[in-house]
Amino acid sequence: MEDLAKFLQLCAARYPHLCPRQVLGIRIAMLAGKILNLDLPQTGKRLFAFMECDGCGMGGVAVASGCAVEHRTMRVLDYGKLAATFVDTQTGQCVRIRPHPGCRQAAEELFPAEPSRWHSQLRGYQALPDETLLIVQPVALNISIKKIISQPGLRALCECCGEEISNQREITWNGHTLCRSCAGDKYYCPIAGEAGSNIKNTRLPVVGRTSNSAVNLRRRFSPRMLQRE
Ligand SMILES: [Zn+2]
Ligand SMILES: [Zn+2]
Repeated sequence: MEDLAKFLQLCAARYPHLCPRQVLGIRIAMLAGKILNLDLPQTGKRLFAFMECDGCGMGGVAVASGCAVEHRTMRVLDYGKLAATFVDTQTGQCVRIRPHPGCRQAAEELFPAEPSRWHSQLRGYQALPDETLLIVQPVALNISIKKIISQPGLRALCECCGEEISNQREITWNGHTLCRSCAGDKYYCPIAGEAGSNIKNTRLPVVGRTSNSAVNLRRRFSPRMLQRE
């Protein structure tokens, strides 16, 4: 558990508090390194993590694995689960690791005299053996890791909004290049009367038959096409 102490220190240096979820994240990443036979935290980009929640669990996984959103070696999925799938991008081997459903209770039984359950969990998650704390599931990806990583330097322009798109995230529809937002997969909507920018968009090409080609293009786009990743 020498590594655990090191990772706890790293966590303390990066975050203002140490909590049970960070410890779980650290243990999850440590076990992934053991199973995939990789030295962690990585300094390169060989290991890729799909993290199924944000917050402290993600912090622990990031510290101990070296996988990071900013290095494009981690993708955070909003499933609300403290679980992660690790992909060895050299071998293609994937493993998903999640907390054992009984780990809370096991931690509290191991350290019953702590001032609170939170404190029991904080200590217990450091001390419990892997098999009591975590569950390992060998998995295969339904999506292409190569597509997710993409190639550096690739750029496209959305024909609707004129914004630049990196990493091949554009969607091609009927020969048109669209960003995900313009293709209908939008997490925001503009406030009526507010222009997005005071710079006039001169790049919007005329597509379709009406002069308001952007609207026309959006209307014609089928949301069903957005199901693919
Ligand atoms: Zn926390
Ligand atoms: Zn667009």
